[in-house]
Amino acid sequence: MEDAIVVQGTRVHNLKDIDVTIPRNELVVITGLSGSGKSSLAFDTIYAEGQRRYIETFSAYARQFLGGLERPDVDKIDGLSPVIAIEQKTTGKSPRSTVGTITEVYDFLRLLFARAADAYSFQSNEKMVQYTDAEIQDTILNTYLGKKIAILAPVVQSRKGHYRELFASIAKQGFTRVRTDGEFVELSPNFKLDRYKTHDIEIVIDRLAVKESENDSKRLADSIETAMYHGNDMLMVYDFDTEKARFFSRKLMCPSTGISYAEPEPNTFSFNSPKGMCPSCNGLGLKHEVNLKKVIPDDGISIKSGGIAPIGAEKSNWTFKQMNSIAERYRFSLTDALKSIPKEALDVILYGGNERFSVASKTLGITREYSIDYDGVVPFLEHQYNEGHTSALKRWAKGFMDEISCPDCHGARLRKEALFFRIDDKSIADLTQMDIAALHKWVKGIREKLS
Ligand SMILES: [Zn+2]
Repeated sequence: MEDAIVVQGTRVHNLKDIDVTIPRNELVVITGLSGSGKSSLAFDTIYAEGQRRYIETFSAYARQFLGGLERPDVDKIDGLSPVIAIEQKTTGKSPRSTVGTITEVYDFLRLLFARAADAYSFQSNEKMVQYTDAEIQDTILNTYLGKKIAILAPVVQSRKGHYRELFASIAKQGFTRVRTDGEFVELSPNFKLDRYKTHDIEIVIDRLAVKESENDSKRLADSIETAMYHGNDMLMVYDFDTEKARFFSRKLMCPSTGISYAEPEPNTFSFNSPKGMCPSCNGLGLKHEVNLKKVIPDDGISIKSGGIAPIGAEKSNWTFKQMNSIAERYRFSLTDALKSIPKEALDVILYGGNERFSVASKTLGITREYSIDYDGVVPFLEHQYNEGHTSALKRWAKGFMDEISCPDCHGARLRKEALFFRIDDKSIADLTQMDIAALHKWVKGIREKLS
């Protein structure tokens, strides 16, 4: 064997007819400026030629499946043995990728949470419950035996409206009573509620005394089924003694407030799926917010000389016509330092205003008409950032903004409901915040904690 790889006359890409001798059985590092041709030499010349020679050893039959590899533009390479290239793989720099998603570890966590996590109510933090019809019937029998109860089907929960059509349709289906905002009422034609108030409405499906006989059980089972049908898989049991109502649901449900969650699935925990992402930040965990200090970096200078950075120094354009009108309206001058102009004027400049007014000119003896129809610098920047048609505009607007943690999910990227599914008192977002060693330990210990 020769003791060197000798490359003669390589002209691949930018290489200018280079000769190089590389010692074998040594660790050799090729260094140089970016663009000087390191990869062209290592990958596109030496490795490519090694690959080509390897494939040449295959039969013609096998080669037809591999496709021909082009000979690199090099005069001669001696001393080459079979080659292996380990390339540096850069992943896309999408803000949606995390170590968890790239390694696919997060996919397993999502599956674990969809199958094994307990749901808690985001309103009361109580554990969510879920019952079968048979369990509901047993619970009613045990809890309310000998008592007079009503089976109710909730149809409206904390929503505004007069609901006249709803009541008409309930009556048409043969029900005569409803419970509205906690009061039992007999339905009458044209019955309606105050449309500007929020209401809770339940259909009274049945009123009965809870007994254990076969007939009574059958009646209870029928009423449960009817209530579930009208209540969208949820019902309430009202106890006439205590005047308290309790929720039962086929879905995951908060026992005290009645809010319910859909059955969890892996996408419930995905910040890249509309089912799981925080709607406020679209699953990014970050938002951009205009920073007024960047809009007005120095309030000692005037609007005319560029005190409001995004609009710059005075030009003859529409924006400065608006600035003039605002100055007329609030009686200041565009040459005043920003810190001395009225606060109301600054509010209009920053957040917009819409007004027509006239000003009598003393010197000319006439009245001038002005109109302010200005969106404001802050909404303009937000619009350019969110809907800017070019990336240059977007970048420009971003320059006046700060990246802040999303106020709704606090950077956890998921919908509120998803964050209230927990295993061993940890949400999936808690796990993704752990360092790898701590997460590994947690995962190793999880088997004993699951049923
Ligand atoms: Zn968010």
